[in-house]
Amino acid sequence: MDCRTAQSLINSYIDRSLTIEQVEQFLKHVEHCPSCYDELEINFIVYYALQRLDEDNGKEGTFDMHQLLQEDIKRRRRRVRHSRIKESFLVAMIILAGFLVVLELLETFGILLM
Ligand SMILES: [Zn+2]
Repeated sequence: MDCRTAQSLINSYIDRSLTIEQVEQFLKHVEHCPSCYDELEINFIVYYALQRLDEDNGKEGTFDMHQLLQEDIKRRRRRVRHSRIKESFLVAMIILAGFLVVLELLETFGILLM
């Protein structure tokens, strides 16, 4: 992914409208591209600052935006990983099912395996 693509996805990343594949590619890019990461951080800060103004008006407490973004990235990466594991599991199940079908066919045609 290049910088132009990455930067065009920043808002979608923040409002969570990217697909798992896009999140994966996007994170891969920003983790190695300081200028896109900065861009993401700025947008992230603005987004959360606005949301916070809306949500808990007047509540005390400082919050570390840099850390919030890091936690968000960690969470998203975990989600990407989980989705990958689920996919691998699904593929394994399909292969197993295919294998069972083959076994069934072999048995049907009277070819003994053991
Ligand atoms: Zn970049």
